[in-house]
Amino acid sequence: MDEVVDGCAMLARILEPRNVTFAVEAGFPPERLERLAKALADAGLEASVARFRRRHPQDFPGQLAEALGLPGPSGAFIVEPTTLVALHDAVASNKAHIEQFVFVGGGSLKRQAVLKARIGTPIGDLIEECGGFMRPPDRIVVDSPLTGSEVADLDAPVTRTTRAVLALSAEETRRAPERACVRCGACVRACPERLDPHMLGKLLRAGEAAEAVARGVAKCTGCGACAYACPSRIPLVELFDAARGKVGGQVHD
Ligand code: SF4
Ligand code: SF4
Repeated sequence: MDEVVDGCAMLARILEPRNVTFAVEAGFPPERLERLAKALADAGLEASVARFRRRHPQDFPGQLAEALGLPGPSGAFIVEPTTLVALHDAVASNKAHIEQFVFVGGGSLKRQAVLKARIGTPIGDLIEECGGFMRPPDRIVVDSPLTGSEVADLDAPVTRTTRAVLALSAEETRRAPERACVRCGACVRACPERLDPHMLGKLLRAGEAAEAVARGVAKCTGCGACAYACPSRIPLVELFDAARGKVGGQVHD
């Protein structure tokens, strides 16, 4: 906590922002809030604390700004705690960014943990640190079960951007059979980009790619929230990924 706040104070001296806000999840324990308040007082940093409800996806600045009730991402510079710790270490200890906090979990592991790992450490070493596998994993994914990438072997290294390593069991990766759309609208409610995934999927399956583009399919970030919400298990993201590949990528903040 002290390192996060110190790093933030350093950044605030450089950027001179009008306001500094610490965004904490709604369930942030009171004792940690007290520690945060004490660290802020010790560092002499004036900052407010805003609570927000965690939901996927909040990876992009616009999505986090919305969760915090900020007018938009354009006036806000959003920094992760790990970046602030790296800044603190670089300035206060002359230490290069050589370590990364990584969440290691998934149903195939004996236990889950947040580990501080040297960049370059094979992910197999992190799994060993968690007691190894309880059962053979079906997939090992880096970062997110919805949007992360699968790794081929345990020698893949931790990089500067690795946040999580997930050893997913067959039960966790099992795909339910697809059923017909029941027009429930759950995908529309889940989409942070205000798209209509149901309509886009229907258009793409009918070969109406131009109409899907006109309705904003290129804005899809591939977050997977619509497919996760869909009770009929329609593989919406796969349809959008293929379409975005054809129209030249995605658009986000
Ligand atoms: S994958 Fe695309 S369409 Fe689905 S919720 Fe995310 S942004 Fe919306
Ligand atoms: S969530 Fe699934 S079933 Fe419901 S409207 Fe969207 S595509 Fe159809």
